[in-house]
Amino acid sequence: MFSLGGGSWKITGSDGAWLKTFEEKGIKTIPFKASNCAFKIDWNSKFIEDNEGIPLKNITISCANKKQKGEAVITRFGLEGNAIYGLSPQIRAQLKLHNKALIYIDFKPTFTLENVASKIKNSNFKNTTQILKKELKLSPSQITLLKTYLSKDSYLNAEIISKYIKKFPLEVNDLSILDEAISTVGGIDINAVDTNFQLHKIPNQFCLGEMLNWDAPTGGYLLQACASNGVFLAKYLNKID
Ligand SMILES: Cc1cc2nc3c(=O)[nH]c(=O)nc-3n(C[C@H](O)[C@H](O)[C@H](O)COP(=O)(O)OP(=O)(O)OC[C@H]3O[C@@H](n4cnc5c(N)ncnc54)[C@H](O)[C@@H]3O)c2cc1C
Repeated sequence: MFSLGGGSWKITGSDGAWLKTFEEKGIKTIPFKASNCAFKIDWNSKFIEDNEGIPLKNITISCANKKQKGEAVITRFGLEGNAIYGLSPQIRAQLKLHNKALIYIDFKPTFTLENVASKIKNSNFKNTTQILKKELKLSPSQITLLKTYLSKDSYLNAEIISKYIKKFPLEVNDLSILDEAISTVGGIDINAVDTNFQLHKIPNQFCLGEMLNWDAPTGGYLLQACASNGVFLAKYLNKID
């Protein structure tokens, strides 16, 4: 029974070097790719100089048909955190097709677009930055993001800025390097094993855990799946013994 892990965080021993051995045995393998990782964004240089390391809290990020709640830290490389890790499959798919992926940040997920617009229009404050700070409780980094990426006219227009607060677009250009990812996809093709994790090509040899090509968001789902694989196989082997 093999559970040799994925291809990231080599320091832990899960170096993925086993892939070649299985390939040589004629077992279908898929190159490793980063999942649950940081994503590259080419930030405006002044913005990143002033905002590196700051978390964007209580946001949602969406990509394609999926939305993820949580926070993301602004890093020199891009964005990292639980609001974006779970979008790994959607971002990877867009990167594969277009070499870039579009994500959208909602800075006020508990407000509708109408709520945001009405707060801005009905505020007693005259200054837009004050309105965003006092009425909508946006953080300085969120306000700077809006200021940096919007024209002055858009920033001062209640309708337009409301739309950007609810759906702020950012372009992702790459995945983090493999070794820094929390998990990897790729490894042994899921169809190379039967429903009991037994290799079709080598009877009585089993593969499970992250070495198989499947994906899940971090936050317990990967660990749960790996442990469940183990319990399932142990029960199966006990039964046939
Ligand atoms: C920094 C970090 C944080 C994470 N946080 C979370 C989290 O919060 N929630 C979550 O669900 N998941 C998390 N994960 C992912 C989770 O830890 C893994 O998905 C899970 O441990 C995979 O289990 P596994 O048994 O398949 O492989 P592993 O736990 O990687 O174990 C594989 C073992 O095989 C050994 N091995 C590899 N090659 C060989 C070889 N050729 N010969 C002998 N031994 C070998 C390795 O040394 C290792 O001990 C995190 C991962 C990392 C790196």
